[in-house]
Amino acid sequence: MGAMAQPLLSLDEAILLLAEAIPTPKLGAILADRDDPALDRSSMDGIAVRASDGVAPRRVLGTLFAGDDPASVRVDPGTCVRIMTGAALPSGADAVVPVEEIQETPGGLVVKGAPCIGDWIRRRGSQARKGDLLVPEGLPINAARVGLRAQVGGRYGIPKRIRVGIASTGDELVLDPQPHQIRDSNGPMMAALAHALGAEVHVLPPVPDDPAAIATFLKGLESTDILLTAGGVSMGEKDYLPKVLQQLGAQILFHRIRLKPGKPMLAAFLDGRIILCLPGNPVSAYMNTRLFLPVVLARLEGRTPPTLWRMGRLIAPVANPGDRPMLHPCKRRGDELVPLASKGSADLVRLAQGDVCAWIPEGGMQAGETKYLELL
Ligand code: AMP
Ligand code: MG
Repeated sequence: MGAMAQPLLSLDEAILLLAEAIPTPKLGAILADRDDPALDRSSMDGIAVRASDGVAPRRVLGTLFAGDDPASVRVDPGTCVRIMTGAALPSGADAVVPVEEIQETPGGLVVKGAPCIGDWIRRRGSQARKGDLLVPEGLPINAARVGLRAQVGGRYGIPKRIRVGIASTGDELVLDPQPHQIRDSNGPMMAALAHALGAEVHVLPPVPDDPAAIATFLKGLESTDILLTAGGVSMGEKDYLPKVLQQLGAQILFHRIRLKPGKPMLAAFLDGRIILCLPGNPVSAYMNTRLFLPVVLARLEGRTPPTLWRMGRLIAPVANPGDRPMLHPCKRRGDELVPLASKGSADLVRLAQGDVCAWIPEGGMQAGETKYLELL
């Protein structure tokens, strides 16, 4: 059976296949190294008091800031200590009264209402006890877990950005085009998109439609984790990328998906590097990058991939003859999607005029609910 006879992967299947093929770092277990909080602490800026003093005026003994050792002071009847958020509670005190509820009088500080024991205090160990398992092993990494790991004394660091190399292909791309030539719009577009998605972007020189030049290029990618190419991956006579990748021994994950635009897309591993080959038509190159790069970045960083889709209401019918779901440029007004008269995969004008792309199932749809993708 020839490759063409196999049904094409759906978008979801292709994203899943790619995600599962990329090894992802996981967080180790996080254990509490001490009680959290390690002492009773104030959760407000105010005064530390003895609740049993009620509303009687209090003499101020001093001030405790976050980080101060509370052993230096003791709250006896008729006294109080100014205390800032996060400061440990001094002995003798059993409540905190917020600044907003205090009045200065010649006889001392007066509180508006009688405090209760425990007011505005974070109790020692109330969030966790020393030795508690706070986060089990193997969860995705996220910022809160990075913070918690730092809190318990674990190694931390701001994760490095993933380096994404970007290369357009095509002999027709020149800076100053004759009418039969064009400028490279995909390179800057994919660079801006990869940047918006959180990558460290490296724009590489365009690659000519020449198998030897493509092979040389693909073997010289040391400083990139992911390579995005545009063009040269379809059925044309100068679409050399699939063949060259095969000759270099790349592991092809998929080639062609059931999507419009963006069908010719290819995903592969070469020398441990992820290569996403996107079709050259600008709307296709945009869409494939927008759909696939977030999951690749998330997997490489150990994060949960972000949700791609939102729900909106298409306010006019959109035709979609054929057997592939389609992403169609729209303006967005609140949750209303207003379809633009896109001419298809080469129509960068309508894509740039739009705010979002709406999901149009195969066969087209009437006005109504559908999912959409934000254009970044
Ligand atoms: P290809 O996928 O190489 O067959 O290209 C498909 C179409 O996209 C052709 O009309 C190309 O001229 C156009 N194209 C390819 N690369 C780019 C690019 N970097 N910028 C703008 N258009 C491109
Ligand atoms: Mg080409």
